Amino acid sequence: MRSFYLEDMTWTEARDAFQSIDTVILPVGTFEQHGHHLPVGTDSFVADYLARRVGELSEVIVAPLMPYGCSSAHTEYTGTLSLSRTAFESTIQDICDALVSHGAKRIVFMNGHGGNHAALHDIGVRLRRREILSAIIDWWKISGLVHPQGTCTGHAEAIETVITMAIWPGKVDVKAASCAPVSRNWTQGITIESLARSRFRGVPLDIPLLTKDLMPSGSWGQHPSELDPQLGNEIVEALIEFIAAFVREFKTAQVPS
Ligand SMILES: [Zn+2]
Repeated sequence: MRSFYLEDMTWTEARDAFQSIDTVILPVGTFEQHGHHLPVGTDSFVADYLARRVGELSEVIVAPLMPYGCSSAHTEYTGTLSLSRTAFESTIQDICDALVSHGAKRIVFMNGHGGNHAALHDIGVRLRRREILSAIIDWWKISGLVHPQGTCTGHAEAIETVITMAIWPGKVDVKAASCAPVSRNWTQGITIESLARSRFRGVPLDIPLLTKDLMPSGSWGQHPSELDPQLGNEIVEALIEFIAAFVREFKTAQVPS
């Protein structure tokens, strides 16, 4: 096979590829503001990069990037192009249906954005009812588990920044970053920490908020200037090694009996 990327194949090559490979990686990103220092395409670019590298290592078909996602909390920021949950879910479902019609039996969602997760999970449950398996990789949830310094602390924060610097050189202006941890009292007893996490008496609660409620710059968490950019390369490679190992294993998974 001359490429694992579906976009590079003729339809006859794609037909042959699906006959021997029944696992597909589908990168899913979004188009949303990432503070003053990262491009609005960051989540899509990172998901696509990881999908391509993992696809080659694990020898599975890599579907084209879905560049739009669910970014409703960020729409006040210029450049954010968000889909509704309904539009996103039905689009991804259609793509999955097409992949299944061609022979896919397992789909790995290489997800670049937290707002997409709930829709991907619901799609995965529906696929499972049809004997199709799926897995959702949220890289920011595992980066701190595959690398001791890889824990993400917010949005467009230090880890996401050094990862983007590692794979998209020249696109990041760290000096422009306006980024700090969010932990402030809202009422006397409620503290805001993130878009979906506030705290009352120490107990985390989901109070849906907008990005502008947290940090006007659109970026929160550890400031990227506190990290050595070289760390980004290490975390990216640790992520790719782990995810590729998982996909090689997942290729052998059958529907639980
Ligand atoms: Zn992001």
